[in-house]
Amino acid sequence: MKVNHGYKRRLTLTSSQAAALDEQGHAARAMWNLLHDWWTWGGKHRRPTLKQADEAIRQARKDVPWLAELPAQAAQQVLRTYTRAWTNFFEGRAGYPSFKSRGRSQLAVDNPQALTLRVRRLSRRWGELTVVKVGRVKFRWSGPIPGVGREPGRITGARLVKDILGWHVVFRTEVEKPTPAQHPGVAVGIDRGINVALALSDGNDQAHGAWIRPKEAERLLRLERKAARQKRAHQRGEPASNRLHRTYDQIASVRARVKRRRYDWQHKTTTVLADRYGIVVVEELRVRNMTRSARGTVEEPGVNVRQKAGLNRVMLNEAHATTVELLTYKLMERGGQLVKVPAAYTSQTCSACGQRDQESRNGVKFACTSCGWVGHADSNAAVNILNAAGLAVYGRGAEAVGSGREASTARCAA
Ligand SMILES: [Zn+2]
Repeated sequence: MKVNHGYKRRLTLTSSQAAALDEQGHAARAMWNLLHDWWTWGGKHRRPTLKQADEAIRQARKDVPWLAELPAQAAQQVLRTYTRAWTNFFEGRAGYPSFKSRGRSQLAVDNPQALTLRVRRLSRRWGELTVVKVGRVKFRWSGPIPGVGREPGRITGARLVKDILGWHVVFRTEVEKPTPAQHPGVAVGIDRGINVALALSDGNDQAHGAWIRPKEAERLLRLERKAARQKRAHQRGEPASNRLHRTYDQIASVRARVKRRRYDWQHKTTTVLADRYGIVVVEELRVRNMTRSARGTVEEPGVNVRQKAGLNRVMLNEAHATTVELLTYKLMERGGQLVKVPAAYTSQTCSACGQRDQESRNGVKFACTSCGWVGHADSNAAVNILNAAGLAVYGRGAEAVGSGREASTARCAA
């Protein structure tokens, strides 16, 4: 079994190395913007093909000297990331791709070819790698990395990213591990609840507080207003003021803190779930047919695509996609399995009698109009999701743990 993981390490750069990486980062950003301008210009009927885009990138690197600062492989990677951004948008995982502004976007440069990296441990605290067109750079050795020294596995590529703390390297690694024995845990269905973050079919719901604390929300609002004010004062064509940059940095650090908090919860929760359950059933990301036809696909984009549609939903989808991603690999490592089922009508169907009626669902409450079963709308949906996976399960929502045990026997018998 192949296990893929990313390992993030902090780089320690000389000032000239940092300047060179910044330059590459900005060239990658400019490349993205050129691509986005070109891709969206002229609307639906003039969308370039991937091959044309690829040729245009090669040409641009010949014509514009500073674009050539970006290594060819990294430039190709920009195109890949860009098309993936569209796929993520069409499938409801991310917002509409946009231009990357100088002040607010995260700089990133890919070094997709593992052979060029030549990662080596220098001492107890330091490691070293080669960055294309920058040379040997040092990084903090904060733990072993697969494929370096005696660690089994291999590095398959790296991405350099600059965040609020400076430049980092993220190594992509692959390790061959023995396939684990089958997970002894029971099966469970999970619904993205309205009231709880994750509603479980056996009633062991996983909740969390607000990601952003009231003080932080206040501060964020204040900073956003300040940035808007500083932006108004700034003349078109002039570079943004240092004060505006500082405000952007402050906004970024609040956001980063909130995101870390969310990620922390997602990691802890998915570990608990992957330890406990052998099969986890989740709904496939809900992309309503209507929305899909309006948006189209990468090959056939829709005409009237609303750029800001459902920003909140997009963020929720993003968070859920991460949770599912973490769950998938953690289950796999433990011999468990993640199953995705189409989510049609799981919130309107009674998990006790199977009757589908919109009227049964009333906010957070579910009261079946047919058999009279009453319970939480979220756990009702979670049980439906579990049932949709075709597992023989008896019991429902509130009668929690017992139903899970029955499910397990049913699975083993089958
Ligand atoms: Zn019913």
